[in-house]
Amino acid sequence: MSDLTPPSSLWRDTATAVPVPTRLSGVTTANVAIIGGGYTGLSAALRAIERGLKPVVIEASEVGFGASGRNGGVVSTKYRVSLSDMAKHHGVDVAKRMNRLAHDAMDCVEQYVDRYEIRSAGFAKTGNLRCAHNANALASLREEARIVTETFGDTSLQILDREETQYETGSAAFVGGVLNKHAGVIHPLNYARGLARAVRDRGGHIFEHSIAQRIDNTPDGIEVFTELGSVRAERLVIATNGYSDLAPATAIVRKSVIPFRSAMVATEPLSAQVLQTLVRNGRSYSETRRMMRWFRRIDDRLLFGGRGAFGKADSGPAFAALESAMKDLFPQLAGVTVTHRWSGLVAMTMDSLPQIGLADSRTAFAVGYNGTGIAMASLLGRCAIDLAFGDQIDLALMRRARPEAIPFYSLREPAVRTVAGWYQFLDHIGR
Ligand SMILES: Cc1cc2nc3c(=O)[nH]c(=O)nc-3n(C[C@H](O)[C@H](O)[C@H](O)COP(=O)(O)OP(=O)(O)OC[C@H]3O[C@@H](n4cnc5c(N)ncnc54)[C@H](O)[C@@H]3O)c2cc1C
Repeated sequence: MSDLTPPSSLWRDTATAVPVPTRLSGVTTANVAIIGGGYTGLSAALRAIERGLKPVVIEASEVGFGASGRNGGVVSTKYRVSLSDMAKHHGVDVAKRMNRLAHDAMDCVEQYVDRYEIRSAGFAKTGNLRCAHNANALASLREEARIVTETFGDTSLQILDREETQYETGSAAFVGGVLNKHAGVIHPLNYARGLARAVRDRGGHIFEHSIAQRIDNTPDGIEVFTELGSVRAERLVIATNGYSDLAPATAIVRKSVIPFRSAMVATEPLSAQVLQTLVRNGRSYSETRRMMRWFRRIDDRLLFGGRGAFGKADSGPAFAALESAMKDLFPQLAGVTVTHRWSGLVAMTMDSLPQIGLADSRTAFAVGYNGTGIAMASLLGRCAIDLAFGDQIDLALMRRARPEAIPFYSLREPAVRTVAGWYQFLDHIGR
């Protein structure tokens, strides 16, 4: 059994209080059972309530235990596949629709925070700056910005030169960047807890410390079994993302995603002198490296995240490497102490895009955000409910006829290590 204790993190240290958790016991009925208490599952529950339905969320640990309570809080409209590549391979209309969905996802977060008064999430639309680590990367960013601006008529992107990027970030390591004004920052765990409060306040049930072990899918309906109880429902939504291998109940989506460890470190509160030189506009910032790193301020600390060198579990040397990457980018942080270190699992897919669809006539799934899911999981949770109850929605490249398994899934762990090593090598040599 995996460790279901949430890691200590800066987010947990600064989180809002939660009600005493309830475990599922006995038989409960609902219109829809939802497995997973992250953004996808909670957003699905809110959408169900909007439709006049009764949802029951089943969470193995506690709300926000997965990536939703551990991420960097960079809310953006980015996919891991560029819109220019989508346009090249699938046509401009498809790329345009994907761009629209990305903006809808961002709007969805903003609407949730407003409608459900999730003030503790500290959502701020400060923009996201993608920082190019070399000239090739900057050329790709510029091409992306050109297509988005000229072909889609989207005015949210602005190209910054080397000096502007250096001024914005406080690092001399970047050759330029693209600012996306329709993006921002959030306290991820408080956002998850705020969504959960909204679900509970509107009559939805959330059962925590309840692992969905088994699902019976019969002509009469769905029944999801946990250790002590079960939920009988008309429909099911699977929202387990990078944690889909916790139990056999979610085997249907497990092979669609490769769980990949992503990590965060947070500094001690910084002096006013250092803060003056760093991330001046309070945006979120990400890099163009394949093994992406991202950073932002939270109050008077710097938060720095990255992938790579992390195996199945956390390791001291991997955190040390992340800390030294942060100090290479920001020499002004030499001597500053890191006070928090934590990690979590993101869900990578074969084509680097999220997957949403129906696994059968009663079961919807939405997984595979490839490390940028705050906004998209908020949107796709809603869409999963609509699909489960028979609506047709144009979800462009994310819509799948069934969960798409990754070939040679049993080789995923050595494959992840090999790919991560190769990506680090390419980043290192500037390709
Ligand atoms: C370190 C890190 C940094 C990140 N940074 C960013 C960022 O800055 N911006 C961004 O957009 N995205 C970021 N992400 C990605 C983002 O957090 C995820 O895409 C998003 O949270 C996915 O939400 P989810 O609800 O689909 O999955 P999760 O939040 O992972 O939730 C899945 C839940 O399912 C539960 N579960 C699994 N199996 C069962 C079962 N059998 N029974 C009951 N419950 C079960 C798990 O306990 C878990 O709580 C980051 C991720 C990590 C790990």
